[in-house]
Amino acid sequence: MIKVQDLHKTFGNNEVLKGISTTVQDGEIIAIIGPSGSGKSTFLRCINMLETPTSGDIQINDQLITEKKTDLMKIREKVGMVFQHFHLFPHKTVMENLTYAPMKVLKISKENAEKRGEELLKQVGLLEKKDEYPNRLSGGQKQRVAIARALAMEPDLMLFDEPTSALDPEMVKEVLDVMKSLTKTGMTMLIVTHEMGFAREVADRIFFLDGGQLIEDAAPTDFFNNPSTQRAKDFLEKVL
Ligand code: ADP
Ligand code: MG
Repeated sequence: MIKVQDLHKTFGNNEVLKGISTTVQDGEIIAIIGPSGSGKSTFLRCINMLETPTSGDIQINDQLITEKKTDLMKIREKVGMVFQHFHLFPHKTVMENLTYAPMKVLKISKENAEKRGEELLKQVGLLEKKDEYPNRLSGGQKQRVAIARALAMEPDLMLFDEPTSALDPEMVKEVLDVMKSLTKTGMTMLIVTHEMGFAREVADRIFFLDGGQLIEDAAPTDFFNNPSTQRAKDFLEKVL
């Protein structure tokens, strides 16, 4: 589903991604972990072209998205993204947050968009909040709305960039539970996270990034029990 070949990204003279190559199969759950500043967000942002790679190729569903003539809007329709800080539309209700892009971009009727919106709000346990504005929601509720909003575009792939890092501890579980339920639907997911227990439980593979390189790509049991590099061992000693 995703094929990344020798991906480089440089900001000024700071080489942030130093040649990443990997493939991800349809339906795989990938947890991306690594120290702060290792390039995790930049890697995710390259996959939906929020950042333009300096060199290298990215294919999604056999389409070379790093080509100049690629329609980036079309790519982003198929790739949902959830950020640390939610990014909900503050002046729209929860339901309007969910129906806006499907109506505007996919030209779905209001009626159908709201029907789908209700299903998604049920799925994230927030149907009763559909007419609220975001500032009336807790952080965990906002993030669940953000996930539902991304799903409303019926993406092929979901990218999560530290979705629970900005939340109070008591709200982390409700968001992880929603993500866990999503893993069971066959959705392909790339999740940058510091929640090691979650990564271990739900991921098919762990990507360990350090210094802009994909240092390890391993099954969770192998990675957590027996990391093959000293850098991963050092990292795990700090976080576990
Ligand atoms: P991580 O998500 O692993 O913490 P990032 O991908 O956010 O790492 O950042 C990696 C490096 O790239 C950092 O040194 C950061 O300062 C730099 N960086 C990220 N985005 C930009 C940008 N838009 N402009 C300049 N430097 C950036
Ligand atoms: Mg980051």
